[in-house]
Formats: sequence, structure tokens, C-alpha cells
Amino acid sequence: MPVAASPHLSRRLFLGSAAAACLAAGLGGARPARAAGTIKPDAKSALIVVDVQNCFVDGGTLPVKGGAQVVPLINKLAGSFENIVVTQDWHTPGHASFASTHAGKKPFETTSMPYGPQVLWPDHCVQGSDDAALHKDLKLPTAALIVRKGFHKDVDSYSAFLEADRKTPTGLAGYLKERGITTVFVTGLATDFCVAWTALDARKLGFTTYVIEDATRAIDLNGSLAAAWKQMSDAGVKRIQSSDIA
Ligand SMILES: [Zn+2]
Repeated sequence: MPVAASPHLSRRLFLGSAAAACLAAGLGGARPARAAGTIKPDAKSALIVVDVQNCFVDGGTLPVKGGAQVVPLINKLAGSFENIVVTQDWHTPGHASFASTHAGKKPFETTSMPYGPQVLWPDHCVQGSDDAALHKDLKLPTAALIVRKGFHKDVDSYSAFLEADRKTPTGLAGYLKERGITTVFVTGLATDFCVAWTALDARKLGFTTYVIEDATRAIDLNGSLAAAWKQMSDAGVKRIQSSDIA
């Protein structure tokens, strides 16, 4: 593995690499026992629902195994939160993250972008398409904000906070901070990409950060899931289950 010069680059390589990390970290990890229903979100807490869109469930263009199973859990969790933010992957046609945009490249291969390595995906979540719509069974009537991301043609954005160039903010940090929110609970799709990058950026921005594991599903590309959990654990992201929420 190349030696990384910056934490950002390091993370990208980490998430993109993997068999070794998979063996080292294990999927189970050590989880402290916690009594059910002991975490009570308050007025300074926000639920972030990442990319629960048609593209990422069965029948979509980039289905995440079991992706639709998070919907009822997230709907239930929503009742515990005053503040809910939803994100949508929202790409231009011919987006730089699509394999079809790069001659000779296939989905799930990696290419080099000006901002670093980029996994190439099938065309997915194109702006305004049914594929990019939120899952029809997602019921979040109190959600106050939808953040669309990945809409710059030449830059991907796994994170709900910062685009993949690691410089361009989406505005979400400002929105949350301006509203006095200090703690975020991240759910949605996919655990090892958009959820993980969102959670890692949340930590870096100073938010207390939880990932509600059973309200996420992973792509797990070459061990990316174990690598993501290791990164999140090292960054102080708390790994909990939906039953931990009061
Ligand atoms: Zn995307």
C-alpha cells in the first residue's frame, strides 16, 4: 500500500484498499454491551439519513444488498429525533464517478482523479430520474432539509459534508452548527462509502458522531466494510444499534 501524505488521502486509500484490513479488523469488532434504549437524542441531535434512494436498492442502478431493509428502521428512528436531515446522491449525466464516462473502464474499477483515487460506479442517481428519488416507503414528514450531493460533474461526493476534492463544502456543517446541533446519528446507504465518509467528516468537524449500524447496509467492495469500521472506530465514531435509541 502506498504511504499516504495526508489524512484525507490515507482515508481514501484505506476505504479503497482492503483484504488485509478485512482480516485485521474482522467484521464483528469488539462492541461494548449496552442496555437497550439508553441513548436519548436531544434538541442538539440530528438524524442524518444518507442516500436511501431507489438507485441503491433492488431494482436500482447500484443496488446495495438488503438496502431497502433500512427503511422501516429509519422510519421508526425518526420518531426519536427533532432534527432530521436527508441526503440524495444527485449526479449529472456523464458524471466523473461513472465508469461509462472513462474509456476502457468498467464499474467497480478505480481510476485516478485530480483529487485522488476514485472508484468508478455504474451510472446511478442521475438528477431528476426516478432512480434518484427517495425510496417510496421512506416516511420522514418532519425532515427539514434535503442535501443533494455529487452534483458537480467532475467531483464525486460520498460525504454529506465535503465533496471528494476534500475542499468543497456542501453547507451541511454550517446548517447544523448554526442551529446549535452538536451530535449526529448517521444511517442509510452505504455503510462503507457515503455513511462512513459522512461520519468521518462529522467527527473532523467536531460533532459527536454515532453510526446506527443496523440502519445501514454496505457495498463491501474488496473488504471496504471492515476498513471503514476501522477508520470510523479510530476516529471516535460510536457504533450503535437502533435498539440503543430511546
Ligand atoms: Zn454516486
